Amino acid sequence: MNNNTLASLDLKYIWHPCTQMKDHEFLPMIPIKEGKGVYLYDFDGNGYIDAISSWWVNLFGHSNRYINQKIKEQLEKLEHVILAGFTHEPAVSLAKKLVEITPQNLDKVFFADNGSSAVEIALKMSYHYFKNKNINKDTFLSLTNSYHGETIGALSVGDVELYKKTYEPLLIKNIQTPVPKNNTQKAAKEAAKILEDILEKNSSKICALILEPLIQGAGNMHIYHPYYLKKARELTKKYGIHLIADEIMTGFGRSGTMFACEQADISPDFLTLSKGLTGGYLPLSAVLTSNEVYSAFYCDYSEHKAFLHSHSYTGNPLACSAALATLDIFENENIIEENREKSKYMAECIQKFKEFNIVENIRQCGMIAAFDIKGYDPKERIGLQVYSYGLQHGVLLRPLGNTIYFMPPYIITKEEMDKMFGIAYEAVELIDN
Ligand SMILES: *Cc1c(COP(=O)(O)O)cnc(C)c1O
Repeated sequence: MNNNTLASLDLKYIWHPCTQMKDHEFLPMIPIKEGKGVYLYDFDGNGYIDAISSWWVNLFGHSNRYINQKIKEQLEKLEHVILAGFTHEPAVSLAKKLVEITPQNLDKVFFADNGSSAVEIALKMSYHYFKNKNINKDTFLSLTNSYHGETIGALSVGDVELYKKTYEPLLIKNIQTPVPKNNTQKAAKEAAKILEDILEKNSSKICALILEPLIQGAGNMHIYHPYYLKKARELTKKYGIHLIADEIMTGFGRSGTMFACEQADISPDFLTLSKGLTGGYLPLSAVLTSNEVYSAFYCDYSEHKAFLHSHSYTGNPLACSAALATLDIFENENIIEENREKSKYMAECIQKFKEFNIVENIRQCGMIAAFDIKGYDPKERIGLQVYSYGLQHGVLLRPLGNTIYFMPPYIITKEEMDKMFGIAYEAVELIDN
């Protein structure tokens, strides 16, 4: 098997995610044979630094020995079992751990198997909570430029036009309030003021405010000030609506703290987790909520208040054991502390892009660094040039429109970072000329 034979077989049978398949008439599909650490290797023996952690999921490298071993141990015991009426050790241990390490008042864990489903669950639970209390609300509030996934409910509360516009007639009710323009406290104050205006007028029909704390990922790595989160928490309490913190991307150290909410010292009513939860190994997600929310569903069956939501692979034992192994690594290796040094180095490296006139908005937060390329219409697909250049030179970058970003696995070394930023530098240099 080589790259070409596998790539042509692939195109015969597979319809890929988030892809205009016709692009593959000129873009080579890259079949990956194996991964080790930050590197992915194709069938022709080329290596690529995974600078985007395979769509933001990988934390401790590909084929991590410890996580591999823990999954294998679980595999020998139990691969899967229904989670209704039955339970298993990895799910129990993981739920207990998640409650312990997340902000206070998050007491109960509801499992699912992907991020979008976790968002659907949080939205449905919030709506259903009010319904169980005989309060009729049917609308959600979300931030402009937000992303919460691609299923219909999650898409409804998102704001990436490219993904959403086509499906407009199918969406559920949602109001948008502006995200702070930039990461200053002033911008956060302005946005919080508009949030309060909207809540004042509409809180009687709004179930919840959903947001990505501190960093909007798919919304071009847009960073805002923690002050906004503090205000959002204060105002949602004041107006009697829920706060859903979608930490699917920011969770597990990506923002610089274990959870982004910690940087504003807030606790949401719902917390959604996925992506890094299993270290990038297996599909799993979790929604955490309070005993107060839980108890609104707790009554005799005949009262019809139960949350009857389920997925076949809910709380899969292999995925839970990967998550437990991931949390072990955080505990045993002082990762958050060590990442501080690494993110400092990332912040340094990215400053070099200042030299280009076409580069603006250089920014960094935790283990994410990004900048924008200005002066090009998105139709020119400048990001695609960077992507192609990266692949030809051994780095997997996957720009979001004109935003070039770096979100590597935490195990990346300085030398590997030098290569990652260096290749991106050359790619931008080519565009600048
Ligand atoms: C990726 C992402 C999701 C959706 O998760 P999937 O597993 O891709 O469905 C939701 N919210 C945020 C903030 C994300 O980054």
